[in-house]
Amino acid sequence: MVRRWAVLPTSRPRELAVIGYEGSGSLISASSRAVAVEVLVHGAQSRARLAQKMGLSPATLTRLVRPLLNAGVLIEAEAVRTPGRGRSSLPLDVDPNRDRFIGVKLTRESIYAVVTDVRSRILDERAVPLASLEVADVVAAVAEVVRALGSGSGARITAVGVTVGGRVDGGGTVADSPFLRWRDVPLRALLGRALGLAVHLDNDVVGLTRAQQWFGHGRGLPSFALLTVGAGIGYGLVVNDEMVPTLVGPVSHYPIDPSGPLCSLGHRGCLTALLSSPSITAAVSAAHGRAVGYDETLDLARTGDAAALRVVRDGARALGRAASAITALTGVTRIILSGEGVHLVDLARSSVEQGRAEYDDDDAPRVDLVVRPMDFFEWARGAAVVAIQREFPPSAPRGTASDDGPRRPSGGDDPAARVDLYISS
Ligand SMILES: [Zn+2]
Repeated sequence: MVRRWAVLPTSRPRELAVIGYEGSGSLISASSRAVAVEVLVHGAQSRARLAQKMGLSPATLTRLVRPLLNAGVLIEAEAVRTPGRGRSSLPLDVDPNRDRFIGVKLTRESIYAVVTDVRSRILDERAVPLASLEVADVVAAVAEVVRALGSGSGARITAVGVTVGGRVDGGGTVADSPFLRWRDVPLRALLGRALGLAVHLDNDVVGLTRAQQWFGHGRGLPSFALLTVGAGIGYGLVVNDEMVPTLVGPVSHYPIDPSGPLCSLGHRGCLTALLSSPSITAAVSAAHGRAVGYDETLDLARTGDAAALRVVRDGARALGRAASAITALTGVTRIILSGEGVHLVDLARSSVEQGRAEYDDDDAPRVDLVVRPMDFFEWARGAAVVAIQREFPPSAPRGTASDDGPRRPSGGDDPAARVDLYISS
C-alpha cells in the first residue's frame, strides 16, 4: 500500500479537491478521507455544517461518512439539542482514543520522542541522550525509545514519524545532515525494519510546519510561512494548502546587509551571519574577549550591555527584513517565528518592526508575525504530525489493523503519485 494525500479546500463552493491519494485495496475512499480530515483538523461538527462547508449534498455526505463510522475513524459525539428545531443533531468527531502516533526528533545530542493522539496532543514524552552518531547505534537507540513509549501507551501505535535537520530525499533517506554528519542514510527503511511499524521521515522544519498547518497557528490559513531561529535558520512554506518543498539553504543565506559580518560560507551579511545563534554568540564573545553563550547574550542585552544589545538588535532587524522579503516573494501574510533562539524577538521588537518596514511601500500587505517558542518536544510533535498526515485515517477497520502484519513504509513526495479528484454534487 502506497499513499500520500492532503486536502485542498477550494474557493469553488460545490467542489472539493483531494490531492495525492494513491492506494489499492483501501477500505476508505479518498473522498471519505477528505471528510475525515476536515473533522480532524477543524473539530466536531454536524453533518449539515460539514455538507455546507465541503459543498456536498446531504446524501453524498451520508454516503462518505458511513465507511468512516464503520471503521471507527469517526464517532457520533454527544447529541446537541438545537432549540426550536425539535431534532437533535449528532456532531461527528474523530475517536481520540483510536490511534496513537510516535514522533521522534533527532538532534546531535539527543533523541526527543513523544506519543500523541490523532490530533497531535502529547500524551507522553521522553528525551534520551545519544551516545554515538553511528547510524546503527542511532537506529537501535530510536527503536528502543519507540518500543518503550509504545508499550507504555497502552494502545496500538499506528505509525512513527521521524524528523532530522538537513536534507531528506524522497521521504526515506537522510541525504545530507550536517548536524548528524550523515549522508545518504536510508533511515526510514532501517527503522521500519527494526520496528515493524510504518515509519515516515522528513526534515524537522517541514514537520514543525505541518504541525502548525493542521493543529497550530496555520490552521485554517491557506498560506503561511514558518521561520525558525537557532543553530541554523529554518524555513517552511505552505501555499494554497500545499506544503511547498523548500531547500534548506536559500532563505537561511538570504542577503540582508552588505556591510554585515561573514557567515561560514563567506556571505557578507546574510541572514545566518546576522541571526543564527553561533553568529550572535561569536559576535558578543569577540566584543567581550571571552566565550559568551546564547542565553547569557540575551541576559546581557536585557541589562543594557551595549555590545550584546547591538548584536541582538541587528539580528532582530535582519529577521524583520527577512519576514518582509518572504511576504514580498510568496504573498503569505502570516509568518510563525520559532526555534530556540526566537526569544531574541522579545528583546528587540522595535528592531524587528524597523527591519520589516524598511523596504515596505504603502501598498505592502501587513505581515502578521506570530512568535511561538517551541522546545524539542514540540519538534517531536511535528514529527508525529508527519506520520499523522500520511496515515490518517488508517484504512483498516478497528481491531484488524494488527492482523495484516507490518506495513511497508509508504511512499514519498513523488508528485507523479498524486491524484486530483473533484467531487460535485
Ligand atoms: Zn550565508
